[in-house]
Amino acid sequence: MDTEKDISYILNELGEGRADYFNAVSPPIMQTSNFRVNTVKELKRLFADEYSGYLYSRGQNPTVDILRKKLAALDEAEDCLVFNSGAAAIFAAVLANVNAGDHIISVKNPYGWVKRMFDLIFSRFNVETTYIDGTEIGQFENARRSNSRFIYLESPNSWYFAIQDIEQVAAFAKKNRLISLIDNTYCTPLYQKPIPMGIDISMQTATKYIGGHSDTLGGVLTGSREMMKKIFECEYLAVGSGIQPFNAWLLIRGLRTFEARLERITATTREVLRYLKKHPRVESVLFPLDESFPQFRLASKQMKNAGGLISFFIKADSRQDIVHFCENLKHIMMAVSWGGHESLILPRCASLDDSDFDAMNAEHRMLRIYVGLESAEYLIQDLDQSFRSSF
Ligand SMILES: *Cc1c(COP(=O)(O)O)cnc(C)c1O
Repeated sequence: MDTEKDISYILNELGEGRADYFNAVSPPIMQTSNFRVNTVKELKRLFADEYSGYLYSRGQNPTVDILRKKLAALDEAEDCLVFNSGAAAIFAAVLANVNAGDHIISVKNPYGWVKRMFDLIFSRFNVETTYIDGTEIGQFENARRSNSRFIYLESPNSWYFAIQDIEQVAAFAKKNRLISLIDNTYCTPLYQKPIPMGIDISMQTATKYIGGHSDTLGGVLTGSREMMKKIFECEYLAVGSGIQPFNAWLLIRGLRTFEARLERITATTREVLRYLKKHPRVESVLFPLDESFPQFRLASKQMKNAGGLISFFIKADSRQDIVHFCENLKHIMMAVSWGGHESLILPRCASLDDSDFDAMNAEHRMLRIYVGLESAEYLIQDLDQSFRSSF
């Protein structure tokens, strides 16, 4: 086996220099804002190329470096940058690759704040975005204009799990000299590796599975060294949205158990899925690797597995039924986000008033469950008691 690509090696050893810090197993947190230089010559070199060394922690920091090396290796990418949130990572990647007057092609339901970024921020600089559902390559061809510069993908996304054919879109982007980015948060590099598939920039929010404990935010970009250096030298340094050493340390700690957690979550999710599919109150489920999923074949082709999110539609006559179901859960918490240790529920109808509820509209009856690290039995019992007491 190629050690450098071995997940156990990456999570436990890669990037660490234990001999440099008293052979401590856990790395120190280099909680420093700046670094002393010994000679003017060294200072001159760092001013000319801050990417190459330690000068100031808005740029490079040794604790962050350990994390960058591990995340780059997991993605089979040359290099990596880590930001203080997923949103910050996306913003920097787009900002670095579009100019005023350029055009973006994006999937139609990206993460909510990404849509706002395109519609409310980039539009002010005359950067227009065309949204397509992304299921057919012809849609990308039809959306392309002479000023198109950037393709934004998210596959699968986190409510409907819409999927794009990554290799096909990557080839289209290369042929037309467009920069492609994919939000790979759902799969993580353990279940999908977009860089070897030809994507320029792979993004994931470390807030979800990498951190894994619902205690820190972080955002990851991986890609060529040239692309990462370009983003570092302008957007990363100028906007100052890089991750702080302590948060980087928490993410390194999260990585130790990343594979083990995702394996358990994946197995438990299948049991919860089986339970939901059989329940008479459940009209249908959405899960990319379930045979009923509209893009099941493409999902099976390009994803190694699927993690802890399941969307499902319940049979309900009123919004209150769904409110009761969510509020009667004793262990599964109602909260945004996912990827942590704790199971979560999120009802789509939270943004509606009771009087707006339309039982004919399936989206009003849609919920998303995130399966955490609890046992399947514990979660199914909780769902079961709430189904029994809510309707
Ligand atoms: C949470 C999330 C983000 C944003 O990440 P933050 O760390 O919260 O900024 C982006 N994409 C997806 C798919 C997410 O779930």
